[in-house]
Amino acid sequence: MEIAVRRNEGSDNKVVKLLMLLLGVKVAVILFLVFAVGLIFGPLFLLGGLGDIGAEWSKDTGSWPDGVEWQPVEEIPVHLMPHFKAAEEKYGIPWWVLASIAFKESSFRPTPTGPSNHTGELARGMMQFLPSTWKTYGVDGDGDGKADILNPIDSIYSAANYLAANKAANKGSIRDALWRYNQSDDYVNEILAIAEGYRLQEAWQRDGYGFPLPTTNPRYTGSFGDPRDGHSHGGVDIVCDYGTPLLAVVGGTIRHSTSPAGGNEIWIDAPDGMSYFYCHMSQYVARPGQRVSVGQTIGLAGSTGISSGPHLHFGIMVKGKWINPRPFLDKLLK
Ligand SMILES: [Zn+2]
Repeated sequence: MEIAVRRNEGSDNKVVKLLMLLLGVKVAVILFLVFAVGLIFGPLFLLGGLGDIGAEWSKDTGSWPDGVEWQPVEEIPVHLMPHFKAAEEKYGIPWWVLASIAFKESSFRPTPTGPSNHTGELARGMMQFLPSTWKTYGVDGDGDGKADILNPIDSIYSAANYLAANKAANKGSIRDALWRYNQSDDYVNEILAIAEGYRLQEAWQRDGYGFPLPTTNPRYTGSFGDPRDGHSHGGVDIVCDYGTPLLAVVGGTIRHSTSPAGGNEIWIDAPDGMSYFYCHMSQYVARPGQRVSVGQTIGLAGSTGISSGPHLHFGIMVKGKWINPRPFLDKLLK
């Protein structure tokens, strides 16, 4: 057995990583991270064809057939999504974890070659497998009869295969399985934080979430990150009339607070791990501790606190940090 250890210098803050992801920052930092893949040997097996799902990657040109140039992206390419999900179904590794690895390793680039590990072996392909690891875990994901390390679809199923074997060997722990992939706690934390972002982004597109105001055409007057009196604006501002009903964006449990800046503030602590925040309210409707459903009126808009006129300041907090709520809100109105 042979293990390649990679260290991800200077990028150990998972919250920052999640923020970057959700902020939509084009994360060029990926290009600076050192590549290699940890490896463990185990039984090799090949998949039968999984059928014709998603776009076909060309093994002749090493690219997607439409000729679209690769560039660093954090959004999961739509043509890969069915493969991430099918790989989850087959191997029991959550699709968002697989997608997070693909983002972290290559920004979904089909055919990168990373730096060598200590044996001089080069990591290859979207999931940055070492060829020696691939020999053991590489599978034919797209059903063309060949397990190709440079085929991104094959690499998705192969990473799932690898993680499933290591998960089984580590008491079912996905964290331990990821640690085998690259023996660094920073790496594991980052992968899981990015994965959580992917999971949430999809959750936000599904039923169970709604816009916080009764409008489909919101007018934003403040953006996340705007400079405000020596701090950074922690949410977005949406203009609305005084007394407009403020709607629960998701079901959850209500909290109240007040502050000189926010005036009357209300929070929804949601099962998705996020706290959704509304402030400057003229009036509370939902009581502290009350369980509310999506779309329920929890308060009325106003201009309490530091505010130049009636509006909703809306924020999302995860693990004590504000994240940009705009991607969430935009997806709700798509
Ligand atoms: Zn604001």
